[in-house]
Amino acid sequence: MPELPEVETVRDGLARHVVGRTVESVTVLHPRPVRRDLRGPAGFAAALTGRRFEAARRRGKYLWLPLDNGDALLGHLGMSGQLLVQEPGHPDERHLRVRFGLGDRELRFVDQRMFGGLAVSAGGAELPPEIAHIARDPFDPQFDDDLFVARVRRRTAGIKRLLLDQSLISGVGNIYADEALWRAELHGERPGERLRPVQVRRVLAEARAVMGAALGQGGTSFDALYVNVNGESGYFDRSLHAYGREGLPCERCGTPIRRVEFMNRSSFFCPRCQTVPRARRVAARD
Ligand SMILES: [Zn+2]
Repeated sequence: MPELPEVETVRDGLARHVVGRTVESVTVLHPRPVRRDLRGPAGFAAALTGRRFEAARRRGKYLWLPLDNGDALLGHLGMSGQLLVQEPGHPDERHLRVRFGLGDRELRFVDQRMFGGLAVSAGGAELPPEIAHIARDPFDPQFDDDLFVARVRRRTAGIKRLLLDQSLISGVGNIYADEALWRAELHGERPGERLRPVQVRRVLAEARAVMGAALGQGGTSFDALYVNVNGESGYFDRSLHAYGREGLPCERCGTPIRRVEFMNRSSFFCPRCQTVPRARRVAARD
């Protein structure tokens, strides 16, 4: 699943290759990716044809392209979505779903599993109302560290769950949450209300560090006329310390990394550096 650094790479690519261009044609090849647009595929196409893309913006993992009439094209890549810029006449990708003709180039939405999608957001140029409830991400200049710390410390949920809560902080996916917690030496089940402010600040700083490293790598990985996000963050795998390393020695203490089920996914942690909260251990014995 694309995480924030990959989505930011796509936003940057859209800003460089698509912004300033006018939509000459829209072809919806499969209705599912535009299912959230209540106008239907034909209405979606009509609402965009003739409009110009004015900018490329992002909140968390949502992208939007403000239009010259105050609306916006809002998109989410879901599990497997890609936005590609291609020359007209380039062979169709196998899972091509929507094609935007922009004159000398095309913007293409390709999505195998179709959890992602596109919609026109009425009046959404500044911030689409559909995503106004989503918190800023930790790279947003207006992200408020003090407010985040205070809100985390009012919650009983585990810190990993809070890192994934899009109403508190956006863009921190499962992989980056595990990496930030490993770096901060905190177990994901530690309740927010039992963390000291310095611990919450530390995990926030580590999330920024690990995601920032990925941003740097993603940002240098493409220069061509090509905006791309893979379903996996493969280019970052070599830098991971916890995620996907079950049974491998912790790089700090040598203890084998453990994997546990977490919200239909997995959590990876070092059982020695990231000790399980006491209440949890008692519960596990019962
Ligand atoms: Zn360790």
